[in-house]
Amino acid sequence: MTREFASVGVVGLGTMGAGIVEVFARNGIDVVAVEVTEAALERGRATLIGSTDRAVAKGKLAAADRDALLARVDWQVGLAALHAVDLVIEAIPEQLDLKQRIFAELDRVCKPETVLATNTSSLSVTEISVATTRPNQVIGIHFFNPAPVMKLVEIVRTVVTSAEVVADVERLCARLGKVDVTISDRAGFIANALLFGYLNHAVSLVEARYASREDIDAAMKLGCGLPMGPLALMDLIGLDTAYEILDTMYRRGGRDRRHAPVPLIKQMVTAGLLGRKSGRGFYTYERPGSPVVVPDDQTPVGAESTLEAGARGIAKVGVVGSGTMATGIIEVFAKAGYEVVSVTRGAEKSGKLFEAVKTSLNKGVVRGKLGEADRDAALGRVTWSATLEHLADVDLVVEAVIEELSVKKALFASLDEICKPGVVLATTTSSLPVIDVAMATQRPADVVGLHFFNPAPVMSLVEIVRTIRTSAETTATAKAVCGELGKTGVVCGDRSGFIVNALLFPYLNDAVKMLEASYSTADDIDHAMKLGCGYPMGPFELLDVVGLDVSLAIQRELYLELREPGFSPAPLLEHLVTAGYLGRKTGRGFRDHTRR
Ligand code: NAD
Repeated sequence: MTREFASVGVVGLGTMGAGIVEVFARNGIDVVAVEVTEAALERGRATLIGSTDRAVAKGKLAAADRDALLARVDWQVGLAALHAVDLVIEAIPEQLDLKQRIFAELDRVCKPETVLATNTSSLSVTEISVATTRPNQVIGIHFFNPAPVMKLVEIVRTVVTSAEVVADVERLCARLGKVDVTISDRAGFIANALLFGYLNHAVSLVEARYASREDIDAAMKLGCGLPMGPLALMDLIGLDTAYEILDTMYRRGGRDRRHAPVPLIKQMVTAGLLGRKSGRGFYTYERPGSPVVVPDDQTPVGAESTLEAGARGIAKVGVVGSGTMATGIIEVFAKAGYEVVSVTRGAEKSGKLFEAVKTSLNKGVVRGKLGEADRDAALGRVTWSATLEHLADVDLVVEAVIEELSVKKALFASLDEICKPGVVLATTTSSLPVIDVAMATQRPADVVGLHFFNPAPVMSLVEIVRTIRTSAETTATAKAVCGELGKTGVVCGDRSGFIVNALLFPYLNDAVKMLEASYSTADDIDHAMKLGCGYPMGPFELLDVVGLDVSLAIQRELYLELREPGFSPAPLLEHLVTAGYLGRKTGRGFRDHTRR
């Protein structure tokens, strides 16, 4: 017999609960919304009213529909109000003993046929279920934050959840306009198991003052197309909730050190910096609960007391290399009005490079993004040369030659002899230590990494890599140049993967390990990350695009440098690379691209 769930109860109206109430009420289902105190109840009600008012103001909800929605909610203190509902969703703090107590009470209060669900992110649904006399009617319904917006719901079935209950809840999710993935009871399910290692790692970068909160967030938004950076997301989730989730995942998920909460998180929780809900976390908000970021009135967490340094003036730029990156970088500098000297290893290469830059600029003209006169002016700013001697009077050199340390070191040693004093020497390396290149010169203070993303004219992010020898003036100059180019330059230390790759590839590797463990399918994992966390592509889609060989090489570098056991490349990734399944470029990777 299928159940319809005509009325539901939501217990706990904090960050998640208030949003869950909205999801049900919006879809015509009566909700009994329960809190522990009148004050907490009032906060939950205010959240719902604020959210629906915003929807009306934006024209997404008619005022009459808002009123009908609000009328469907019955606000109550105490669980006794839930005696007649068909389904309860619990969204109280992420603590097992607390949840077990509430489930035992719900079991007493609710009708025998009522389904009891938890919105837990990381706790064992099975352990919660055994606090009741009806474990076969207990299930995980894991919504994503913000619940009214995110499409995904993870349905967690324990070994005793009845098949009918699973089917009923799946139907309910469809009725709510959500996409569900049904999985078994494992710490962090799909999305959080892949997300929280990444979030914790991002916090560790702030803690180590490796990069600023803004730069880490900008890097992940611009480099990976994420809707928000990891630190803004930590603030949205709530630092206290994030702490509990990490702690549980560490204990339940095989004591992976990457899930051991970074000490800074606990300090922030103790200091009351819980994120948006308390008005301050990594960022400062207009008031508790507000999404509006305001300037800090105190030094933000992890902020550097950097030496203020002036930038050097840059007018003439040398670009060494003739590949894809060099092509894009020449275009970017020339379009921004810099005089450019391009150096390749021969006239033939220079000729081809000229054609490549012209073709790319022409595309801009065809697309109406660039006038013909601007194209001609940009091309006119470039001098094409086959000898490094022509770099004698440039102010900045950007090297984009083959990714081999010996080649780059030799080049930098030559630049050291040719270039005038005070020139900024930049490498575009994506994987080599910048300090190795810097030490090939007599002027390591002037050497910096400028990691452009491909295609350079399109991608607005540049990682500015400062080594322990880079001067503040050199970093400031690099930052100013990025600004002139219309790019966002994020400053970071000289560690493998810089910011983006260091945070992205371990996540992709974890997804492969999850697939390898047969916990879920590539399709469901891709869905979960896109619909639950707003990734523009799922991990397996992205791996196939980037190339499995490239991904494996980056992951190996990270593992070699950091020696973190959790970073060891997934055996499945290695096997696929060995088998020649490299992704789209070979027609097969995690998916078969040869069939339509
Ligand atoms: P929160 O701290 O923002 O809210 C918890 C609410 O529960 C508070 O308002 C509190 O007053 C109330 N509460 C506590 N004890 C209660 C009781 N006995 N009866 C009724 N209400 C009670 O927490 P949150 O972030 O909303 O997390 C709630 C659950 O949702 C957790 O299990 C969490 O793991 C999960 N979750 C959180 C997120 C997120 O991004 N924050 C996302 C998905 C799932």
